[in-house]
Amino acid sequence: MHQAKQKLLVAGFSALLALCVSACAPDTIGGSPKNAAAVDQNRLNAADKDHANWMSYGRTYSEQRFSPLKEISAANVGQLELAWYHELDTNRGQEATPLVIDGVLYTSTAWSKIVALNAMTGEELWAYDPKVPGAKAVHACCDVVNRGVAAWNGKIISATLDGRLIAIDAKTGKLVWSTNTLIDDTSPYTITGAPRVANGKVFIGNGGAELGVRGYVSAFDAETGKLAWRFFTVPGDPAKGPDNAASDEIFNKLARSTWFGEYWKYKTGGTVWDSIVYDPELNQLYIGVGNGSPWNHQIRSAGKGDNLFLGSIVALNPDTGAYIWHYQANPGETWDFGNNQQIMLATLPIKGKKQKVLMQAPKNGFYYVINRETGQLLSAEPYVAVNWAERIDLETGRPIEKPGARFLDGPFMASPSALGAHAWHPMSFNPGTGLVYIPTQEVPLVYSQPKEFDYIPGRWNTGVNFMAPPPGPGQPEDAAERMRLLRSKAKGHLLAWDPIKQKEVWRVQYDRPWNGGTLSTAGNLVFAGDQKGFFNAFSAETGQQLWRFQARSGIIAGPISYQVNGEQYIAVMSGHGGSVGMATPPRGRATIPPNGLILAFKIKGGAKLPDYQPVYAPPANPPSESFTKEQVALGEAKYQRFCAICHRGSIIPDLRRSGVLTNKEAWQGIVIGGNLTDRGMVSFKDNLSSVDAEAIRAYIADQAVKLKQQEEKSGVQSK
Ligand code: CA
Repeated sequence: MHQAKQKLLVAGFSALLALCVSACAPDTIGGSPKNAAAVDQNRLNAADKDHANWMSYGRTYSEQRFSPLKEISAANVGQLELAWYHELDTNRGQEATPLVIDGVLYTSTAWSKIVALNAMTGEELWAYDPKVPGAKAVHACCDVVNRGVAAWNGKIISATLDGRLIAIDAKTGKLVWSTNTLIDDTSPYTITGAPRVANGKVFIGNGGAELGVRGYVSAFDAETGKLAWRFFTVPGDPAKGPDNAASDEIFNKLARSTWFGEYWKYKTGGTVWDSIVYDPELNQLYIGVGNGSPWNHQIRSAGKGDNLFLGSIVALNPDTGAYIWHYQANPGETWDFGNNQQIMLATLPIKGKKQKVLMQAPKNGFYYVINRETGQLLSAEPYVAVNWAERIDLETGRPIEKPGARFLDGPFMASPSALGAHAWHPMSFNPGTGLVYIPTQEVPLVYSQPKEFDYIPGRWNTGVNFMAPPPGPGQPEDAAERMRLLRSKAKGHLLAWDPIKQKEVWRVQYDRPWNGGTLSTAGNLVFAGDQKGFFNAFSAETGQQLWRFQARSGIIAGPISYQVNGEQYIAVMSGHGGSVGMATPPRGRATIPPNGLILAFKIKGGAKLPDYQPVYAPPANPPSESFTKEQVALGEAKYQRFCAICHRGSIIPDLRRSGVLTNKEAWQGIVIGGNLTDRGMVSFKDNLSSVDAEAIRAYIADQAVKLKQQEEKSGVQSK
């Protein structure tokens, strides 16, 4: 600690030395932190009392995201200013929650990169690029994001989009070990979630259920990367026999009999792409299990059966992976309602006694409180307007679904929908107010049965038609226009929720959905970013806005708080993207989003972002050639099947504005020839003929003409 101590003495802050135990500036030698990420089980177990640090994804094992720091409060938050910022190398989505350990901030960024910064100054200590192949982006349902890293015994452990788990030396930024977590490199698995670590084991799952994969969670030795155990969340092909995994026994006893038809052909889904929470009080591991693959229960399981463990929370033994209990929120899941959302642990007085509970606000719109010793559902109430179920029956734990919700006899406009009443964006709990602060949204989606289901390995395979007109009159004829209209109805809010009374206490209305995760502090503040790029502080009691800062790009990530040299900081990453971010076209004049930032704030921080001039998107670029109606119709069908899932917002290029739209050869070279594979646009030659590719150009050309007319009419013309 010598250098840091000298600096402090010179600066005349010797009184702070008494405080300066783990809260000091990073003791750096040649730019590398000494004793970096010195995190062990004792330290993680006592994280709640370690006010200065944020050592794991949700700060403590409870994942309450409550910082006991209170130097920044309602009284002085008006003086909160930028302390430093670090510009990232991409405008893709930034979803990570950084860690801060003994004055060093570690975080993952888009494309699974990792960076270590001096948490006091923002100075870069090291950066690590796992070099994820660009072509992997086409397997990422929801952008090339990463939600965070774990720290253990001098190592920063992170997972990559292409399925590796890697350990980096926290001092040097050099690779220590790397493990392929995938059971099958040819399937469209991705990892975007943060690993969790406990008792020398690292836990990680994966995503890919939109495209077709079989879900599982694995535990690896944190020192070596060696596999310790694996638990599959859904059964595989019965002809292949047992998996030789921790899940075999419960599949025989319980899960396999809940599946029908030839489910294994579609890989069944049930990915564990976000929430994995260790409970040190009960030595249990809770995993949030996602939706089915395909989404449509009719196709996946012949419309029969609960399909365990889709849409469930499962408690496992963290040492062996053995099943302990489960709660299934959506039996026979058919809307992409998974239970991957944040699992938060607490002890709350419920029904007259103190109970160890876990809480979750999953996509389906109900707030669940579950006894985590037994898995018994204690309460579940809607935290947004819900139209797919009447209520949750507390006796059976099952939802009472509304007629028509399964879209068997016609389209159903579900709200909430696949995009979730609450997605991965972290919520937080303030034990002082007793409230949970949830970034919520109401984003409707029209579900209907497809005319036919063409399962194509490695591509989107939901088995749901989203393009049918919703029930009711006055719908535009053009399907893309209907989709835009539907999106314009989407809402977002910050909700303060009483988990004991299961009641809303206050809400702040945002302009749009897909806003930032939340942080609660003992200063009685709630910090949350929003879609428009504001980073906001609200009163935890009333929701009154007390401060805000414009961060250029939209904020979706969860903020953190930490302390260095006795000063409290608030940090957050900006960078709009993720599923809804990719799907949300800009309003008003179209811009190219700026690169993301890591931002840190303190009282009278004194730093400023340089002036930023928005970069406008190029104008609509319809070619002068004409196409036949048949070409446009074929192009629309192919576009909706293969292209729309990525090319639908502002981050991935809007093809109506593409310079390539007027050049048939260049278009073919990209769509069929794979000329932009490194940037994530792979060749679709296995799925599309050159006639199809030209038809897609015809459809986009038709859309570009409409866009040009619109822009000329509204006067909001891109130059
Ligand atoms: Ca999903």
